[in-house]
Amino acid sequence: MSLNEQKPGTLCVHAGYRPQNGEPRNIPIVQSTTFRYESCAEMAKLFELEKEGYFYTRLQNPTNDQVAAKICALEGGTAAMLTSSGQAANFFAVFNIASCGDHVVASSSIYGGTFNLFSVTMHRMGISFTFVDPDCTQEELNAAFQPNTKAVFGETIANPALTVLDIEKFAKAAHAHGVPLIVDNTFPTPINCHPFEWGADIVTHSTTKYMDGHANTVGGAIVDSGHFDWTAHADKFPGLTTPDESYHGITYTERFGLGGAYITKAVAQLMRDFGSCAAPMNAYLLNVGLETLSLRMARHCANAQAVAEFLEQSDKVSWVKYPGLSSDPHHALAEKYMPHGSCGVISFGVKGGRAAAETFMSALKLASIATHVADAKTCVLHPASTTHGQMNDEQLAAAGISADLVRLSVGIEDVEDILADVAQALDKV
Ligand code: PLP
Repeated sequence: MSLNEQKPGTLCVHAGYRPQNGEPRNIPIVQSTTFRYESCAEMAKLFELEKEGYFYTRLQNPTNDQVAAKICALEGGTAAMLTSSGQAANFFAVFNIASCGDHVVASSSIYGGTFNLFSVTMHRMGISFTFVDPDCTQEELNAAFQPNTKAVFGETIANPALTVLDIEKFAKAAHAHGVPLIVDNTFPTPINCHPFEWGADIVTHSTTKYMDGHANTVGGAIVDSGHFDWTAHADKFPGLTTPDESYHGITYTERFGLGGAYITKAVAQLMRDFGSCAAPMNAYLLNVGLETLSLRMARHCANAQAVAEFLEQSDKVSWVKYPGLSSDPHHALAEKYMPHGSCGVISFGVKGGRAAAETFMSALKLASIATHVADAKTCVLHPASTTHGQMNDEQLAAAGISADLVRLSVGIEDVEDILADVAQALDKV
């Protein structure tokens, strides 16, 4: 049985690193910036990507590569890379194929940091974005494309609106316009959703969240499905299909094929120039988290389901958004794309609006107020005044965020204790 045919729980433990006889059982932390060679000729071959090997950790490092290979196996991709953060992953994923003068179609229901990256910082770089309602019709989606569109972007489950992306609808529109679909799969993780099986071409992650799972390290990952044929749309993607004069005249699709071109270019060009590399120590810690990902996701989802059902019954709560609730408008999409569970994050409103939400949050004893989601410990955040504070009311509404929205990230504690904490805090409202 090849590694990719193994079950996710086994891949979580074993993929990416197979120690040989007498080698360390755990992935070794290669804490070295550089690697020694005995001849200039050998080093030159590495630089020209003619030979595989390591020369400088900003570009590649064995620890990072082994962890990236595990994430690649979990997603069912052909190539993957780690980045220093989820922000860097989403930036690289888009900038690898869109430059000044290009355009990208993105779901409006995405993480505030990604929205800011696209609409402010990448906009300043000359890339324009059209944001579409993830629940739009296929016709409305098609209307968002322009001749210079280079990619489509969405989040499988949006943070914190918890809308579920209709991956097939978005993939169909992207492919009809000759561009790839990039999906940020941070919230469900590959344990609960495989975007490649539904037509996504590139997957990104903030590994900071469930993958690390313990709030230890900030990190990101990009995985290529190898499915998108850049050469069939060569005019749109010259960076992949024509010689890269900044890198020894290499044509990525010719040298590395459809399975390797995109990630090799992102490493050779973007990592070289922006340097947002993962620290090997962080990659090691990420790997420790990955080993238990499938166990933790099941527990996060079971706990969140119980808490969401409790909140739905509470007369202190005005609304609850959780894809696992049968009353949720995205429940059918969640059942289709994530039949075994979605994520551990719930959004809800406390009756009485912003002030009541703040009273509730301050009264929590077990759960802490933290700018985080998706780790072992239950935590809460008020996005409108924090992570999404840069958005105006219109943008907040488009992202599915109201002023009373409380984002509750349900941890892996015993559910009775989480429920008791939420109940006592609601009593204070
Ligand atoms: N994508 C999603 C869905 C996120 O929730 C986040 C952060 O919360 C990011 C990307 C950015 O990741 P990071 O904080 O690791 O840079």
